[in-house]
Amino acid sequence: MAVIRDVMPAFDLLQPGSVADAQRLLEKHQEEAWIMAGGLDSFDWLKDRIKKPKVLVDLSGIEELKGVRGTSDGIEIGAMTALTEIANHPTVKKDYGILAQAVELVASPQIRNQGTLGGNVSQDVRCWYYRGGWPCYRAGGNICYADTPVGRNREHAIFGANRCVAVHPSDSVPALIVLDAKFVIQTPKGERIVDAEDYFVGPETDITHLNILQPGDLLKSIRIPAAWAGAKFYFEKVRDRNVWDFPLMNVASAMVLSGSKIDRIRIAVNAVAPRPMRLKAVEDAVRGKPADASTGEMAGELAVEGAVPLQFNAYKIPLMRNLVKRAIGGVQEATWAL
Ligand SMILES: Cc1cc2nc3c(=O)[nH]c(=O)nc-3n(C[C@H](O)[C@H](O)[C@H](O)COP(=O)(O)OP(=O)(O)OC[C@H]3O[C@@H](n4cnc5c(N)ncnc54)[C@H](O)[C@@H]3O)c2cc1C
Ligand code: SF4
Repeated sequence: MAVIRDVMPAFDLLQPGSVADAQRLLEKHQEEAWIMAGGLDSFDWLKDRIKKPKVLVDLSGIEELKGVRGTSDGIEIGAMTALTEIANHPTVKKDYGILAQAVELVASPQIRNQGTLGGNVSQDVRCWYYRGGWPCYRAGGNICYADTPVGRNREHAIFGANRCVAVHPSDSVPALIVLDAKFVIQTPKGERIVDAEDYFVGPETDITHLNILQPGDLLKSIRIPAAWAGAKFYFEKVRDRNVWDFPLMNVASAMVLSGSKIDRIRIAVNAVAPRPMRLKAVEDAVRGKPADASTGEMAGELAVEGAVPLQFNAYKIPLMRNLVKRAIGGVQEATWAL
């Protein structure tokens, strides 16, 4: 399908100075409004003339949405905080190092300087059919071009497909899930706080959106409780080009050990399904067991149960098995028998 790339369609640019003003503007303009943070994902859509909002609500002038603050129980990161600031923040690095590590692996330094945490967790899927303007299910049509015998689906889902087989592409999200982060949403009715994993929706719930935000809502901040501060963390991202690229897959785990045994654990993966996956069955199975290679082996097998590969992405099953194994048993035990 031809995509015209000349100039962006016209829109009204609104630049509120407070969360309350932004929320009122979003509520007033409903589906015609588009929230803009760092603009990295937003401008792709606008320049390619694939999304044509009438109104852009630019959050960049809202100081209360920026920065990392200490709270009585951990930290709170404003949605407009740049990824670079998070990666370099001393408290994040010291107590919640998995988040610093995850955001440091996002894209390139330039993108991390401009891209925000709110934008990273709220970004859209990278399926090239959809982003190229093809009228697929996610675009409101009635076909998935990626899920056909000849569809290009090497980067797509092995879990959770429901008509759409695109994956959630964020690197920060699995780290936020294992830190038990809470997403603070400003809605027309006030503040709503949800667990990190509950911010996301799969295509079975809403095929044209990736998160629970309704017209009039915006993500205000992300709170990270102290419960997992200083835990034993593991984050690994696999991508085609190490210089910078979206994840083919990533894994995050947070463990608290009692002796050599796993006392508490959270583990999550992304880029395997249309929404980030917390692996609760794996968490339950490994609790009380030693954090070693044989527990990792068992966890890896359990993690891939029920995976359904597409034509070109069967490699994701052994990849996920090994990443989960490494996230529990340690990298020194890894085998790369893909
Ligand atoms: C070339 C390239 C490579 C990339 N590589 C990676 C990668 O390796 N890993 C990775 O994780 N990401 C990657 N990204 C994604 C990039 O990190 C995100 O596009 C970026 O973080 C989006 O953030 P932004 O601040 O620019 O948001 P925008 O592009 O402005 O917004 C993104 C989306 O989020 C919505 N949004 C933004 N803020 C809010 C808010 N506060 N409340 C509600 N909705 C909001 C916007 O409406 C929009 O739909 C890459 C992007 C590019 C362009
Ligand atoms: S995977 Fe999803 S986004 Fe891609 S073509 Fe299919 S329906 Fe569209």
